[in-house]
Amino acid sequence: MPDNKLKIGIYELTGCAGDALLIIDCEEELVNIFKAANIEAFLMAKSDNNDEVELDVALVEGSVSTEKELEELRKIRKRSKALIAIGICAGLGGMQSYFLDDKDWAKNLKAVYGGVEMIHAKALPSKPIGDFVKVDYFLPGCPIGKEQFLSTFARLLAGNPPELFRFPVCVECKWHENDCLLNKNILCLGPLTAAGCGSVCVNHNLPCVGCWGPSEEANRTAEYKLLLEKGYDPALIKNKMANFSGTSITQFFARLKGETK
Ligand code: SF4
Ligand code: SF4
Repeated sequence: MPDNKLKIGIYELTGCAGDALLIIDCEEELVNIFKAANIEAFLMAKSDNNDEVELDVALVEGSVSTEKELEELRKIRKRSKALIAIGICAGLGGMQSYFLDDKDWAKNLKAVYGGVEMIHAKALPSKPIGDFVKVDYFLPGCPIGKEQFLSTFARLLAGNPPELFRFPVCVECKWHENDCLLNKNILCLGPLTAAGCGSVCVNHNLPCVGCWGPSEEANRTAEYKLLLEKGYDPALIKNKMANFSGTSITQFFARLKGETK
């Protein structure tokens, strides 16, 4: 008998599968997740996957790195009412995309694989899924967080969109009344990073490395100049800022290169 439960598909493209693992790691809630919605596809969790059914929501992890993935992504989009990018690779292209323009990518591919013929999957430069299809929401994180996923899941069941934060980690850090690590000359990326993790690292006296990706309100120029003033090496700053920014930081560094010529 048909039911009116949400039909959800969870998919993985190129990445470490950390977001799918995070969902499976919701051990206590997993049975209820499967009871509350019809999980039509989730390769890591079940074998009777239905890849033809129309979906209410598709959750997609990973960047697009092959023609086959691009084809799969387009099919998923076509049969989904809403599509949510989960994790930095899907939302921003991931580490596999950073600093690489298409020319460098082709050079690197040749250096690693030589003249090998790609029979099963033709490689493409890694890109965020939003470069190819409409993405309705993006859950940041590398990987996404358990509370973030469970609250998103509960909101979807109630017909609400995910809760997203425009402000940076520093705001959560202040809520926890931490001393600012930048004042102690420790390289912290809190001002550039999307909130949502509850500033968990800084609460334990560790600097934020930016794993929730760039905040919408980030002032990259100010942070870059501040870290230079504090004596950090430009190449180190660049690498730290790029780690979880995917393709979103390419233009910033291109502009910086122009300004520092
Ligand atoms: S820079 Fe780091 S330590 Fe300072 S307020 Fe922001 S998150 Fe907290
Ligand atoms: S690195 Fe930053 S964004 Fe990632 S969990 Fe730690 S404080 Fe949060």
